[in-house]
Amino acid sequence: MIIQRAVLNSRPGKNGVPVAENFRLEQSTIADTIQVGQVRVRTLYLSVDPYMRCRMNEDTGSDYLLPWQLSEVADGGGIGVVEESKHDNLAKGDFVTSFSWPWQTVAILDGSLLQKLVPQLVNGRLSYFLGAAGITGLTALLGIREKGHVAAGANQTMVVSGAAGACGSLAGQIGRLEGCSRVVGIAGTDEKCSILVQEMGFDAAINYKKGNVAEQLRELCPGGVDVYFDNVGGDISDTVISQMNQNSHIILCGQISQYNKDVPYPPPLPPDIEKIQKERNITRERFLVLNYMDKQEASVLQLCQWIQEGKLKVRETVVEGLANIGAAFQSMMNGGNIGKQIVSVSK
Ligand code: NAP
Repeated sequence: MIIQRAVLNSRPGKNGVPVAENFRLEQSTIADTIQVGQVRVRTLYLSVDPYMRCRMNEDTGSDYLLPWQLSEVADGGGIGVVEESKHDNLAKGDFVTSFSWPWQTVAILDGSLLQKLVPQLVNGRLSYFLGAAGITGLTALLGIREKGHVAAGANQTMVVSGAAGACGSLAGQIGRLEGCSRVVGIAGTDEKCSILVQEMGFDAAINYKKGNVAEQLRELCPGGVDVYFDNVGGDISDTVISQMNQNSHIILCGQISQYNKDVPYPPPLPPDIEKIQKERNITRERFLVLNYMDKQEASVLQLCQWIQEGKLKVRETVVEGLANIGAAFQSMMNGGNIGKQIVSVSK
């Protein structure tokens, strides 16, 4: 059977900026028949995420990420529908997902590595299982619960960087649901800031590309910052940390501003900021959602419940077509997305 697939065409280099042309669409073939235990699936949605930047390097710099190989099909979070099954627990028409879904239109996969999805849990919005009801939502929820020390009634102020992105937009809302009294976002455009406040219930949002972030933060967080959900690192995070309170907490979710640089993870803080962190006893422990998968099931149900109740507002930026997946990745890395960046493959 003839299929389309997206392969890694070139590496951006450790310090290079990734571009759409780092990926190439090509025709390939898969077997016409499947073996016992296998399913043939048609891809519906693929996820593009910042961590994939590390997979574009020959050395990902981490023990849990494998590099993509040149001229080999890329992979990541994906959702599809079963077209043929020789696996006992899966049937034609089932919707399934995997963290390592190949970037191709149709694939033959090992059925035991797939998770079955229940569309009703997300009001039929299947792609949410790659975002708000998937790894992204889990990252926001478990990051806050495991590292945020948020307590209802404690009058805490939370700041979120990368706030209009997939994790950030959920983290601010979940921070509020878990008990923060004030939530302030930092994002890269006025449109994003307005969505955070008007739609997602943030108290305020700062466009870090305009004006003085430190001054605006001082005004918007008069009692200082108690919890910082950090998606970006770099200058923005240094500015936030400078305004954090004694015994406060950083949720070290990600450091996207450093991903095109050859630096260790987590990147060390500049000496003056590290001094503040130590003197004020601010926690900054590494957080990796994959370390908390024992909490996956209950946490996904919690996220789905909030989505169904309208308590968690979800935004997606959907790009149509596997041919555009490289462009979708490039755009997301450059701030072109609001909420979760998804590639819709079937249309
Ligand atoms: P995302 O925020 O939806 O997309 C990336 C966003 O980052 C862009 O839209 C852009 O928005 C912003 N950005 C890009 N370069 C920036 C820079 N130099 N300075 C400030 N902002 C910049 O991506 P996501 O999936 O939600 O991931 C957010 C972070 O969480 C990433 O660092 C990712 O690695 C991390 N993550 C961690 C875990 C974990 O287990 N710890 C799991 C998933 C994701 P602007 O317009 O605002 O610049």
